[in-house]
Amino acid sequence: MTKNITCVACPMGCGITVEIADNGEILSVTGNTCKRGDAYARTECTHPERSLATTVRVDNGMTNVVPCKSATALPKEKIFDCMKVINTARASAPVKIGDVLVENILDTGVNIVATNDCPVK
Ligand code: SF4
Repeated sequence: MTKNITCVACPMGCGITVEIADNGEILSVTGNTCKRGDAYARTECTHPERSLATTVRVDNGMTNVVPCKSATALPKEKIFDCMKVINTARASAPVKIGDVLVENILDTGVNIVATNDCPVK
């Protein structure tokens, strides 16, 4: 099977072609112009991942929410379930940039961390 994908690891957006055997083995990766593209294509065709950026509600803060992101990429198939968890999470002010707001979300080993400060109201 041949899969054509667009690399999103940088703004160049190279078109990459991946040849995949019936057993799922990657036979070849072509079209990438750097090693990051090769790694992206292999991950995308075997266990796709996505980074997640959103907000978490804050109690007693200067703002009602604080921006956050996944510390590393999450399995793509768990993104919507992770959003459900994050949508029910609450932090208490003060929140500092880098604070863990949701630890080991859905047992992925990935933390959801604040990407900005939120001082007390
Ligand atoms: S293959 Fe390399 S240069 Fe091309 S989009 Fe991916 S990261 Fe960027």
